[in-house]
Amino acid sequence: MTPQEILREKGLKNTELRRRVLSLLLEKQDPLSHVEIFEELASAGQALDRVTLYRTLSAFSEARIVHKVQGTDGTVRFRLLRASSGDGCLGNHPHFLCRKCGRMSCLLEQPLPRVDVPAGSVVEGKQLLVFGLCGDCAANKKTEETVL
Ligand SMILES: [Zn+2]
Ligand SMILES: [Zn+2]
Repeated sequence: MTPQEILREKGLKNTELRRRVLSLLLEKQDPLSHVEIFEELASAGQALDRVTLYRTLSAFSEARIVHKVQGTDGTVRFRLLRASSGDGCLGNHPHFLCRKCGRMSCLLEQPLPRVDVPAGSVVEGKQLLVFGLCGDCAANKKTEETVL
């Protein structure tokens, strides 16, 4: 689906900013924070302000175009909810968060552990976050240590 098609299907106003945000999320596989999205678009020459971007992401979230994933760092990240799998980032896979560079990755195709909930409870989603250093940051850390 193209950004235009997604906006049309959800009955949302088709603006340049909305199309740009959707193209970025279509292109990236991993959840991006508000700041990461802002920086990517700003460096691509898009004129935008943080409040408008925040509203755009909230509108996408309400329309269930994106899923929000919250890290242990308190930052909310957004990922496109894929029409093909319908899983988005809630309930179906764990995430890895690098505490140094803040990059989050979806660990797709990996099952979440089964959890027994209190009798009568209704589960609406599951989240599992694994955190530490990503490959790049772990490699840099080793170089830094060698230099010291
Ligand atoms: Zn995910
Ligand atoms: Zn990292």
